[in-house]
Amino acid sequence: MATVEEIKSVILKPYTNHRQLTIREVENISVSLIELLITKDASDAKTMKYIARFLTKQDYDDLVQERNLVKRCGYPLCHRSQARVRDPFADRQMTNFMKKNNPYAYLTEFCTKAHYRCSQYYQFQLSDEALFSRVGVHLDDYEPSTEVQLLEEALQKESDIKEMIRGMTELKLADEENKDEIEKDISEMLADIKIVEVNEPNIIGDLARD
Ligand SMILES: [Zn+2]
Repeated sequence: MATVEEIKSVILKPYTNHRQLTIREVENISVSLIELLITKDASDAKTMKYIARFLTKQDYDDLVQERNLVKRCGYPLCHRSQARVRDPFADRQMTNFMKKNNPYAYLTEFCTKAHYRCSQYYQFQLSDEALFSRVGVHLDDYEPSTEVQLLEEALQKESDIKEMIRGMTELKLADEENKDEIEKDISEMLADIKIVEVNEPNIIGDLARD
């Protein structure tokens, strides 16, 4: 599994002797990171938080799609397949049409609703600032402008669903009108996350795995 140490030693090391990266170097880092996260899953929460500094919302969309192509759940921390693997030879327009009209379309990208939500929550926090402008992003002393939080952690800290919804409303993932719907959604998701936790008891905080 992909770890912070691996990202540093394999991807970033050639660039650590200078602070300002060239456009070409930035592109190389981006491509290598996405390649790594297609061939391996992120090892732990620490890795998820670390890679956030290299990603834009758009990069994350690309990553989800690329992972789906190799039959991996879009959420990089997950080691399962998406619930419904799409036929890669299917008509793209038809697939998009089906996606738009199917309330369970997220299952073609994620293993569960829980990971769909975790993914949304993560992506929302990513910066839109181009990687090139994040000077020193590849160095150890870099301070990211936002500390990304994972939904799994948020749920561990505050299992009160109402509290959670308030958080999501603030993040604009929910609005007043669909509060009830979201509440139902989150109850389902909590059930989902509990299942994920039982199957993967070490998903958070286990830094020893590789
Ligand atoms: Zn998953």
